[in-house]
Amino acid sequence: MSGKDYVEKDYYKVLGVPKDASATEIKKTYRKLAREFHPDANKGDTKAEERFKDISEAYDVLSDEKRRKEYDEARSLFANGGFRPGGPGGTGSYSFDFGDLFSGSQGGGQGGLGDVFGGLFNRGGRQAQPRRGADVETEVTLSFEEAVDGATVPLRMTSQAPCRLCNGTGAKAGTTPRVCPTCVGSGTVSRGQGAFALSEPCRDCRGRGMIVDDPCPDCHGSGRASSARTMQVRIPAGVQDAQRIRLKGKGAQGERGGQPGDLYVTVHVDAHPVFGRKGDNLTVSVPVTFPEAALGGTIEVPTLNGPSVKLKLPPGSANGLTLRARGKGATRKDGTRGDLLVTVEVVVPQHVTGDALAALEQYREATASDDPRAALFRAANGA
Ligand SMILES: [Zn+2]
Ligand SMILES: [Zn+2]
Repeated sequence: MSGKDYVEKDYYKVLGVPKDASATEIKKTYRKLAREFHPDANKGDTKAEERFKDISEAYDVLSDEKRRKEYDEARSLFANGGFRPGGPGGTGSYSFDFGDLFSGSQGGGQGGLGDVFGGLFNRGGRQAQPRRGADVETEVTLSFEEAVDGATVPLRMTSQAPCRLCNGTGAKAGTTPRVCPTCVGSGTVSRGQGAFALSEPCRDCRGRGMIVDDPCPDCHGSGRASSARTMQVRIPAGVQDAQRIRLKGKGAQGERGGQPGDLYVTVHVDAHPVFGRKGDNLTVSVPVTFPEAALGGTIEVPTLNGPSVKLKLPPGSANGLTLRARGKGATRKDGTRGDLLVTVEVVVPQHVTGDALAALEQYREATASDDPRAALFRAANGA
């Protein structure tokens, strides 16, 4: 019998029984129908003969527990719209070998979990594959210096490990999960047709491919248990505030031998009271006096975690001028360093007394003819 037959014929309808009919009910109904349409009782009636054939075919499948289950699975699969039985048809259509699906080592009696999975793995491409562990998100807060230089920080991780009591199956001791009839163990169902088919996690088994009828009391059927571990994580130098770092393979463990997931660490960087950050460069604001700004000079500037540097302030430096101390910034990935950007902040004295006041008044007289706003008014008046 081809897969097409399997999904196109509604054996329940043929017998007129509900989908959840018991074996006895099916047997009883079949006997009644078989008597009614038996060729011996309907000589020469081809319609009755056809009907009798259909009834027998339906009963063949539905009376055999194993075959009935396979039939139900195939139909629910097809009902999801994922398959176009009949093989290599149009572009992008999905060809599915029902023979492969049904030839399997399903059932087979006393199965432990190994049997269930073994059965799954023998059934072609559409079954529970090893599943990659989940990606894990976490956060860490670094001091400004740690972010600039890089740091190794302990991260306490609560991750999901397979439950010990049920070995991750989620099933109560002595029971085994059964193959999800909706997705036939694949964990995914296809929606749409041909080139537009989309694969999405099966809702009935939540993508696990298996359904647990008697949940494990420890993990309540999830098959997973929380475990806390602390690991040392190296945060590279030059990390920025709000940056997300990916640590490959440090996430949750995989299922059924799958790869572990990745760990994503979102880094928060504390502000520094003095230094700021602009990419690879550090910034600092340095107060200078009016005479320093006007006459120029050498100013001493602090650096982050290093000796101070002396910078030449050119004569006539305006407020807000930025000087550059090369190589005194943040460490880059390649080990080189950015610069320290020094912004000059001219300080205006709040209280001037004595000699300073006298000198300042003298300076005002000496510069009385220089109108600092002359250019402003010329421009404002369109001259
Ligand atoms: Zn499923
Ligand atoms: Zn468990």
